[in-house]
Amino acid sequence: DLLDISKIEAGKMRLNLTVVDLGEVVQHVIDTLGTWAKTKDIKLEKILYPDKIEILMDTDRMVQVLTNLIGNGIKFTNKGGSISVEVKERPPDELFPEVAVQVTVQDTGIGIDYEDIKRIFDKFEQVKGVNSSGIGGTGLGLPIAKEIIQMHGGKIWVESSKGCGSKFTFLLPMQ
Ligand code: ADP
Repeated sequence: DLLDISKIEAGKMRLNLTVVDLGEVVQHVIDTLGTWAKTKDIKLEKILYPDKIEILMDTDRMVQVLTNLIGNGIKFTNKGGSISVEVKERPPDELFPEVAVQVTVQDTGIGIDYEDIKRIFDKFEQVKGVNSSGIGGTGLGLPIAKEIIQMHGGKIWVESSKGCGSKFTFLLPMQ
């Protein structure tokens, strides 16, 4: 993560772009993190419409973003909760004036305080209290994810409130 942040700051992060089915990338990450989710009895489900959404992307970097978002979902959701990952096409609108693919990672976890929401995409921000209760991390995952999504011409944001789960959404242009 630290190496990635220095690369980003030096303007040296480069994307290796190929056309890839985003659904397959999502499935790959779900398969990888499934065992961890199972240990916490967390249901991890994928919702895809339509089945095939091909996007020009850096696959490794997209795996990194999805691993961060889904991994955080698992980390910050209590036993027996659930996480859904939805991938769908989205028509242009004021928020994003291009045809896009919309990816939503939603969990039933501990949620994020209102005042923390605007800080979590900033470098080294970990919401206080979380780590003191024993949940580790660097606070770099989300800033890196944001940078990767922006380098793909996309947008990322979160909607959450304390105790009510979190919903991270990113958009990528379909070209
Ligand atoms: P890390 O998880 O390594 O600390 P991140 O940048 O991925 O770093 O996340 C920053 C902080 O945002 C986390 O420490 C946590 O406080 C909060 N956070 C991120 N995702 C979630 C989530 N799904 N539910 C609750 N809090 C979250």
